Amino acid sequence: MKILLVEDEAKLGRAIKRGLEQDGYAVDLLATAEDGLAYAETETYDVILLDRMLPGGADGLDICKALRKKGNTTPTLMLTARGEIEDRVDGLDSGADDYLVKPFNFEELLARVRALARRPPEAVPLVVVAGPIRIDTALKRVSVRGKEVRLSKKEYALLEYLAHHPKQISSKDHLIEHVWNFEADVLPNTVEVFIRGIRTKIDDPKKDSLIETVRGFGYRLRVGA
Ligand code: CA
Repeated sequence: MKILLVEDEAKLGRAIKRGLEQDGYAVDLLATAEDGLAYAETETYDVILLDRMLPGGADGLDICKALRKKGNTTPTLMLTARGEIEDRVDGLDSGADDYLVKPFNFEELLARVRALARRPPEAVPLVVVAGPIRIDTALKRVSVRGKEVRLSKKEYALLEYLAHHPKQISSKDHLIEHVWNFEADVLPNTVEVFIRGIRTKIDDPKKDSLIETVRGFGYRLRVGA
């Protein structure tokens, strides 16, 4: 993901560039409208960030208008020091896709850039694999050693929780808190009953249970199994 940043305030420009680079973007930073436009026309960017007010004759709006006129549709975010409604209208009229008023929160800038780049937010993996257990969290299906296993809703929720936290020993109270809702009146014994139910469905009777009981502490998946 490559970003063009046109910002004449050197300190701010460097800070934005550094922050974006830390998030994995490659950033070209230019300080004038002239240079910015020249880069925008010769390089390919995923997102363009334009400071509204730039020194000299042209500003961010002019860059944006010039690019759109030439058919360049790179998603563009306008950074503006003023928040007046006219600025917003001007910014969007120029063909900018979004605008952000200075001073802004960097996380907010990142969120806008991500949205413009259509980069999906960090996705939770849909398939969780823990040892021989494979859980498709979208379809709520579980298979063990390649064979599909039918679990009740609560059994599934328990197993999914354990699989999401493979290194953690989960106490019964902890599981009650995370797997049952607040209204439910659940006793630690109930957890034992459900764990036993899951074991009968997923375990190979000749081997140790895939759900290890850690005496005095709770349960943990035996993922090396
Ligand atoms: Ca400026």
